[in-house]
Formats: sequence, C-alpha cells, structure tokens
Amino acid sequence: MKSNAVIAIHGGAGTILRASMSAQAEAQYRAALRDVLQAGQRILAEGGHALDAVTEAVRLLEDCPLFNAGRGSVFTADATHELDASIMDGRTLEAGAVCCVKRVRNPVLAARRVLECSEHVLFTGEGAEAFAAAQGLALVEPAYFHTDARYRQWQLAHDRQQTMLDHDGAARASLPSSESEAPEPTPQEPLDPNRKFGTVGAVALDAHGHLAAAASTGGITYKQPGRVGDTPLIGAGCYANDATCAVAATGAGEMFMRMVAAYDVSAQMAYRGATLEAATNDVVMNRLLRIEGRGGLIAVDREGNVALPFNTEGMYRGYARVGETCVTGIYR
Ligand code: ASP
Repeated sequence: MKSNAVIAIHGGAGTILRASMSAQAEAQYRAALRDVLQAGQRILAEGGHALDAVTEAVRLLEDCPLFNAGRGSVFTADATHELDASIMDGRTLEAGAVCCVKRVRNPVLAARRVLECSEHVLFTGEGAEAFAAAQGLALVEPAYFHTDARYRQWQLAHDRQQTMLDHDGAARASLPSSESEAPEPTPQEPLDPNRKFGTVGAVALDAHGHLAAAASTGGITYKQPGRVGDTPLIGAGCYANDATCAVAATGAGEMFMRMVAAYDVSAQMAYRGATLEAATNDVVMNRLLRIEGRGGLIAVDREGNVALPFNTEGMYRGYARVGETCVTGIYR
C-alpha cells in the first residue's frame, strides 16, 4: 500500500551533550530508538492504525530502562514511583489518560483502555489502578520500576533537597558499567532544574489518513508525591486531530501545561493556517521560551510532514516512513 504513513518518537529532551556521551551509550540509545521505530513502522506497513502504532511504540519505550517511563522511571521525593500517560485518537478525538499510578506496568496500555472502554478521559492513582486491574492489565510490585541509575539521581536530589528533571548526563547515569558512572556535579556546577528532561512519546500518521499521539513519563526526579505534569493532560503534553496534526511533548511539564503546548500547535494550524513546521517552531522556540519552558516535541501532520523541534541541547528522537530507513537523532 503506497502511503505517506510515518511514525516519530522521542525519548526525552535535555542536557544531552556529545562530550558527555560515551560511544557505547550512544549506540545503546540509537539501537533502542531504532528498534522501537521499526516496530511502529511494521504496524503501519501492514496497514495498521496510527493508534496501534503509537501504543506499541510507547509500550516498548516504557519497557526500556534507558528512558524515563515505565521501568526506568525517576523517583519521587519519597523514593517512590508515580507514572503518567495519555493517548489520543485524531480520527475521533477520543482520548484516555492515567496519572499517579504506582503499580501499572504499562501506563500507556491503561490510557488506551480508558480511551476505548470508559466514558471518562483521565483516571488518577488508586482509581486508575483499579480500572487497569479490572481491564486485565498487568500490575507489578513497585520494585519493578527501580533502576540503580535513577536511584543515584534520587540520592543526588535528596542530598540537595531539590527537584530535577531527567537526562542530566543521561548517558553516564543510565548505564551500569563502570565507564558510565557519573561523577557528581561539583558545587560550581549546580543541578539546573531547567535542563534535565525525560518522557517518551510517539506520533503517527497511518495509511488511512488517521493521526494519533501517545506519551508516558515518570515525571521529574524528587517531585512532590501527587505532582502531575503535562504528559497525561490532553492538550498540554499530547494531542491529535486528523484535521491538523498529532503532537507529543517532553520538557518542563509546568510550562507545557501553562502554554497548552500540544494543542497550541494544532490551533495555530487550524486558526491561522500555519504549517506544521511554523506552528511547532513558534511553540517551542518562542512561546515556551518566553516562560523559560525548556524541552521539545514531536509532531506529524495529515500530509506526513514531520517536525522534531527542541530548545535544549539534545532530544532522543527519530522517525520512520514506511519503506524507508529509520532516522534517529540525539544532539542538536
Ligand atoms: N514533561 C514531563 C513532566 O513534567 C517530564 C519530561 O518530559 O521530562 O512530567
């Protein structure tokens, strides 16, 4: 089937510098991105739906400990995990989301069930877990989400009593080998809470002309228990509308919420006829930066155009068109 079907993914944006990334770590990130893209690409190539492609891509990213979502999520101030996810179908404008879940193995699958099986859009905490369990989804012990690298990030934040976003020297912190051990930043190099982001997301256009978006995150390291960011909020961290585009965001969640960032891309296309490139650039490079909103987003429109802008040093990202080689990127 000839189509302009395409999937794009991200694994978080932030201070991702070539200088702080070992060749081994870079290869691991690129391989992980490629595997996920190929899985999404296969679904689209077989005529599958964008909603299925983004669900599967985010599920795989959640299962990969390199990224801050599902297994490998960051810790709250209480050294627990609280996960958020959302998904939206551009065909029907149906959406589903969960936030503050502690035991749902794949939050994106719970969000998908909310979209499909509930009259509601967003479930939180224990209610979300009860809903997921009733839907037959896997619940896990909290220890499932633990990774040593994230725990070291928590300890650093705990020592400083400071929240921080993900991907501070991500390449070093995420790998268990001695080569990847991250030396603690010196006091002259304070942890900058505006420079460390992480979340995963996927957007896709299928061969039937439908768009979908999904996002999932552990949030920010040392966040207050109960804190919710943009990721599970439709319009802030995730949005899809067949008439315009599909968007998934990553970055300082509070700013993306205040800017209603994902929806703003769609609104600019709908109301002022902006191209995908112009709309995404305006949101990421102008509007968000005006309130010091650091991060990025991935977006695809109904013609199959792809935009992956970010205002940080790097963003784990990639896209794959049906029948073409996957493209991945990390740095600016
Ligand atoms: N946007 C996410 C949040 O604020 C974090 C991130 O993308 O790094 O929860």
